Amino acid sequence: MIKQKYIKLFRVKSGKKIHLKDYDTSWAQNEEFKAFGKEQLKERANEILEQNLVDLKQVQQLLYADDRYSLLIVFQAMDAAGKDGTIKHVMSGVNPQGCQVFSFKKPSAEDLDHNFLWRYMKSLPERGRIGIFNRSYYEDVLVVKVHPELLQNLPDGKRGKAFWENRYEDINAFERHLERNGTVILKFFLHLSKDEQKKRFLERLERPEKNWKFSPSDLPERGHWDDYMEAYEDLINATSTDWAPWYIVPADNKWVMRAIVADVITSTLRDLDLKFPELNEEQLKLLEQARKTLEEE
Ligand code: ATP
Ligand code: MG
Repeated sequence: MIKQKYIKLFRVKSGKKIHLKDYDTSWAQNEEFKAFGKEQLKERANEILEQNLVDLKQVQQLLYADDRYSLLIVFQAMDAAGKDGTIKHVMSGVNPQGCQVFSFKKPSAEDLDHNFLWRYMKSLPERGRIGIFNRSYYEDVLVVKVHPELLQNLPDGKRGKAFWENRYEDINAFERHLERNGTVILKFFLHLSKDEQKKRFLERLERPEKNWKFSPSDLPERGHWDDYMEAYEDLINATSTDWAPWYIVPADNKWVMRAIVADVITSTLRDLDLKFPELNEEQLKLLEQARKTLEEE
């Protein structure tokens, strides 16, 4: 486990105004990790990840049996930050029956004909389960803010700053509603540097088995880097709440990123008062009778 005091460094406190440039992307707000060299760091991060995968498997079973809460995990990041790999690694140990991943791409015509939260509402996790959003309703205050022409047909009204503030307000209310109904929400921003993105794009172009990962829109979007950072900063400041906090996770080092994400998920689940359902007297009697019947067969 990563010490709680380090985990807290990544969590954006409600009401706190953050600047993304104050957050290290490569790692090292953590004394424990800072002291390691690269190889040792990978080894230590992998150990933490492995331990968390074991714990996560157990606690997921408990979440399912307890059947009061669900867990919604949101991943947002610039391209090539490693959302897919993180989801793959962190969820590798869990029971697939209790976990579902949804990847949100460009909205369909039907999606655009509804309110902006509609398509996400349809994919929320059931009680007892973990739902993962690979991109989410936050795209509607990110890519749509950077490219306003993507906005659906809306009646005339406020545009500009007030429009986005209203959307943040809607998101906070939506998440509050979910929280009040038993959904625990964790939101991860995988924070990659522009330099590291360049390295990873070049790798995608140079290695044939990685070519498929490069999409023609990746470079133009990279051109809007500063606009995206500003949009991320604004939304994190507006929507990191007590009931749905953001975690800003350094993403330049994949092993460290995965270890942190796994640790936040397991420790959040552990902090819930999850328990196996207890049977009442009558149910226990029925079990006893069933046992006798079987034995007397
Ligand atoms: P990969 O790691 O495979 O690149 P990805 O999540 O980037 O995964 P893509 O198909 O490359 O998948 O990109 C999905 C695209 O859909 C992104 O450009 C994203 O901005 C866009 N998108 C997602 N949600 C919305 C939305 N609500 N409105 C407009 N565009 C959206
Ligand atoms: Mg992409």
